[in-house]
Amino acid sequence: MIKGIVKFAALSAVIAALSSCAASNTPAANSAENAAATDASDFVLLAEAVPDAIMEIRYYSTYNFVGDRIDGYEEPCALLTKEAAAALKNASDDAVEKGYRLKIYDAYRPQTAVQNFVEWAEDTDDTRMKEYFYPELDKSVLFDQGYIAEKSGHSRGSTVDLTLFDMSKGKELDMGGTFDYFGELSHPDYTGELTAEQIQNRNILRDIMVENGFNPLDTEWWHFTLANEPYPDTYFDFPVSGSSVESE
Ligand SMILES: [Zn+2]
Repeated sequence: MIKGIVKFAALSAVIAALSSCAASNTPAANSAENAAATDASDFVLLAEAVPDAIMEIRYYSTYNFVGDRIDGYEEPCALLTKEAAAALKNASDDAVEKGYRLKIYDAYRPQTAVQNFVEWAEDTDDTRMKEYFYPELDKSVLFDQGYIAEKSGHSRGSTVDLTLFDMSKGKELDMGGTFDYFGELSHPDYTGELTAEQIQNRNILRDIMVENGFNPLDTEWWHFTLANEPYPDTYFDFPVSGSSVESE
């Protein structure tokens, strides 16, 4: 999600994204790319495509590392490309068979939201959520250490952040660290302070996702990208909202 991202991708695309935020009616140099990036016709609502999944869309709330609702999140819903949603449905079916539900924190993320993260990171005085999400880090290192970047794989529409909810206990599996914690604790292979059960729980999630066509990320246990993602070079920028996609 925040990390493991193309940090300095095509400058022109970044400029195009920025100018589309500032003035959406002004055609940018590469207007064809902009047009594609606002076309949500290949996206679906996860609540419809993966009905067993639980939605906890953190960037629509104030319980995230910024502490505000994030720009571009107009409704507490999750969108993915049809291809990624179909793979996630299979993962959900596997999870249900094992006694779990998928719990979704984030999926498609507009470039507008990523820009909100960048602006927040540049304001080093705003540390409202430090004690919860980055207690060990000085906010000034978030760019250099890759926690915040100009682009996110989530904007390509086939990446999801999630955990497993244990139906028998009525709560999330203990992963030994919280979603969006900035630190080594979030590395899936981190073993420093984790119990055997926490390590096993991370592996259960990873196995379900990998078996259904997703690639894990080596810095965030909750983050997975469809291996064969349909838009590997497109960074979309339409709102997270049910009205962005046509209902089926
Ligand atoms: Zn992620």
